[in-house]
Amino acid sequence: MTSAAQLIALDRAHVWHPYTQQATAPDPLPIASGRGAWLHGMDGSAYLDLIASWWVSIHGHAHPVIARAIAEQAGRLEQVIFAGLTHEPAVRLAAELAKRLPEGLTRIFFSDDGSTAVEVAMKMACHYWRNRGQERVRFLVFEGGYHGDTVGAMSASRSSGFFEGYRGLLFAVETLPYPATWEGDETVAAKESTALAALDRYLESSGDECAAMLIEPLIQGAGGMRMCRPEFLRGLAARLKAAGVLLIADEVMTGFGRCGTLFACEKAGIAPDLICLSKGLTGGFLPMAVTACREEIHAAFLGATFDRALAHGHSFTANALGCAAALASLGLFETEQTLQRVAAIEAIHRERLRNLQSGIAQPRVLGVVAALELTLPDRGYGSAFTPRLIRFFLDRGLIIRPLGAVLYLIPPYCITPEELHRGWDGIEAAIQHFSTH
Ligand SMILES: *Cc1c(COP(=O)(O)O)cnc(C)c1O
Repeated sequence: MTSAAQLIALDRAHVWHPYTQQATAPDPLPIASGRGAWLHGMDGSAYLDLIASWWVSIHGHAHPVIARAIAEQAGRLEQVIFAGLTHEPAVRLAAELAKRLPEGLTRIFFSDDGSTAVEVAMKMACHYWRNRGQERVRFLVFEGGYHGDTVGAMSASRSSGFFEGYRGLLFAVETLPYPATWEGDETVAAKESTALAALDRYLESSGDECAAMLIEPLIQGAGGMRMCRPEFLRGLAARLKAAGVLLIADEVMTGFGRCGTLFACEKAGIAPDLICLSKGLTGGFLPMAVTACREEIHAAFLGATFDRALAHGHSFTANALGCAAALASLGLFETEQTLQRVAAIEAIHRERLRNLQSGIAQPRVLGVVAALELTLPDRGYGSAFTPRLIRFFLDRGLIIRPLGAVLYLIPPYCITPEELHRGWDGIEAAIQHFSTH
């Protein structure tokens, strides 16, 4: 057996962690196991996972139903080439998703992660127009949007602030202002008018060069849990439709119940042309993603020659284990009445946020997502403060990672009210502590 200290030493010697400044980051926390909303460290300490492990573990850790489905599938067929061959878990999953997705999204393309789901959607949109005899390679995005780390997805995320180091690699996109809003925001209508006016101007001048607009419906995740109103998205979708520009919904974060409905588009009342799903797709067990589109888009790729076909596919496209996990996860939404759990979590979030009076601004809640801005006096929210805040939570057995000055919770849906209150108690304690220290 490797001890925790040995593990950290080996990690330090050989591992390169994501989104981490390896020179200054504290030692990573070695985790031995997980169950439900809890993670267990190698030293026996327990941590409440209040961010669903980067937003993927929707039903909690090591759910036995999903674990069993993967084990059974692994003993039968683990993986098979998906060009020219097919298999039951993939076909069943495609059919089950088509039943549940926003209306018209019935054609399913599999890939590996959120970034590739977005990359595929962008390629589909461009190639769709080319197959219809138009060259459209421009994309519209929102300021502050985050769509992933591959080059196309980074280009669409260029205003997120994460990718300055790669600017030379990125292609240009058109960026619209995003009307981020919160409880009691009196400026929201004005912000929405500004954004829609900018959209109108762009569509008027350059709409016929634009392949698609790519949005995170209702919540911008990595951009800071920035929320917008459903009626704004309906106005946006109507304008894009009238102008003949495709709408791509990146629901990599919002999908699978996060906003209180299975998909955020349902809650917003919009019908996108394409949708990107990943994170919660397999219940957080395996990396897999889906790009789904309307039949009309798929139909534009049909023809006698390969140049009309989508030139995309990954070694692990439609991995059978991932499909089995995703089917089991979808089943849990019914057997565990998951959306009712989401509603109960949302109610606790609202109650606790109402009781937070000082040290915060811009409180906002949707589904299991609760967020606020810390306004503690005399704090730099840069690199020095964030690790102290993370440490403060870890010392109390809580996994919470702020995004800059934004504190947020995205718990797994299995969290109990007592556990969730513990998380909020931790946030209250942090605000108290850092106001006075
Ligand atoms: C996380 C995320 C992505 C990227 O997904 P990966 O699996 O990390 O590649 C894309 N879009 C949104 C909205 C995300 O939250």
